[in-house]
Amino acid sequence: MQTLSTPPNAAPASVGIDPTIVRRKTRAVPVGDVFIGGGHPVAVQSMINEDTLDIEGAVAGIRRLHEIGCEIMRVTVPSMAHAKAMEEIRDRLIKTYQNVPLVADVHHNGMKIALEAAKYVDNVRINPGLYVFEKPKSDRTEYTSAEFNEIGEKIRETLKPLVISLRDQNKSIRIGVNHGSLAERMLFTYGDTPEGMVESALEFIRICESLDFYNIEISLKASRVPVMIAANRLMVKRMDELGMDYPLHLGVTEAGDGEYGRIKSTAGIGTLLAQGIGDTIRVSLTEAPEKEIPVCYSILQALGLRRTMVEYVACPSCGRTLFNLEEVLHKVRSATDHLTGLNIAVMGCIVNGPGEMADADYGYVGKQPGYIALYRGREEIKRVPEVDGVEELINLIKADGRWIDPQ
Ligand code: SF4
Repeated sequence: MQTLSTPPNAAPASVGIDPTIVRRKTRAVPVGDVFIGGGHPVAVQSMINEDTLDIEGAVAGIRRLHEIGCEIMRVTVPSMAHAKAMEEIRDRLIKTYQNVPLVADVHHNGMKIALEAAKYVDNVRINPGLYVFEKPKSDRTEYTSAEFNEIGEKIRETLKPLVISLRDQNKSIRIGVNHGSLAERMLFTYGDTPEGMVESALEFIRICESLDFYNIEISLKASRVPVMIAANRLMVKRMDELGMDYPLHLGVTEAGDGEYGRIKSTAGIGTLLAQGIGDTIRVSLTEAPEKEIPVCYSILQALGLRRTMVEYVACPSCGRTLFNLEEVLHKVRSATDHLTGLNIAVMGCIVNGPGEMADADYGYVGKQPGYIALYRGREEIKRVPEVDGVEELINLIKADGRWIDPQ
C-alpha cells in the first residue's frame, strides 16, 4: 500500500549533492598569455585550415578565429618551410592585429621542424606515435625489450633539444596522442588500447621531467568516444598514482560534421568535463573552424564551466501550451541574446511553468489564452497581453537596470 504520494512531476527531494563540477587540480601551463589548467577557465582552441605557407590566408584565418573567441590557435607545420613561415605569421599578427597564442603541430620525424617552429610559437604539439617514426614492418611478430628500449633511447635523444628549447623560453609542449597513430612498439606491447595511449604519453612526460621541464599539456584523442573517455580517465588515474598534475586537452578526432559531429564531440568532451577532467577543448568538425567555437562554448556553458551567453530555459510545449512556444522563444532570444549572464525562461503555462523554470532571473509564462505573465525569479510581476509580451519583458529588465543596448 502506498502511504505517501508524490505528484509524478514533482522535483525530486534534494539528497544533498552539490551540482557544482569540481575540477581536477592541475598545474597552470602557459600558451602565450593564456593558461591551461591551474584553475583557469577551460580554454577554447581550434586549428586553421589555411596552408601555413599562404601567410596572408593563415593570418586572416587566425584572426577570424580569435575574433570570435578562440583562445589558442593551432597551425600545421609539416615542413621546415612551414616552420619558418611561422616567424612572418607571428610578426604580421602583431603588426596588423595583436599577438595571439599559437601552437605548431609537428608530425613525422619532426624534430628539426619543431625546433625551428619553437622560436616563433608558444607551444609545440608533438604526436608520440610519429615524432620518431619507424615504418612498421609487415613481417614483425614481436618486439623485444631491447628493441623497445633502443627506440626509447632514440626518442629521448630526439626530444631533448626541443624540450630544452621550450624550457629555456618558458614555452610549453602538448604531448598529443592519437589512438589511430600509436607507434608500432606501443601496439605490440600494449595493444591498440587506452593503456597504449597512456603509456605513450607517459614515456614522453618522463623525458620532459628528466630535463626539468613541466610545461606539459596532454591530449589523448580517438574517433571512438568510449575509447577517448577511457584513455583520459586512465591517464588521470595514472597521473594521480605518479603524483603528476598535467592539464588535459580534450577532443574527439574525426567527429565528422553536422548534428552527429557535434553530438559525438559533446558526448566525449562533456562526459569528461562533467567529471572535472579537462582544461582545454577542441571540437573537431569537418566544417569551417569558425563553426567549432560556438559548440565549445555551448558545452562549457551547459556544464556551468563558462558563461558566454544568455541561458535560456524553455519547456518543450505540450497540450497545455498557451502560445506558439517556438516562435515566442525565437522572439525572446532575438531581443535578449546579448544580455550575457542572464537566465531567461519561456514556459507554456502556469501549471508547471513557474515551478520548472528553475533559477531563471526572468520568466515569460503562458497565463490564459491571449495573456502571459512575467516573472522576476519566482515572483509574478504582471500579466500582459501576449502581443506585448516581449516588449514588456524588455521593459521589466530595463526597470531592473539589467538591460544594455545591443551593439
Ligand atoms: S510548462 Fe506547461 S505547457 Fe510547458 S510542457 Fe510543461 S505543462 Fe506543457
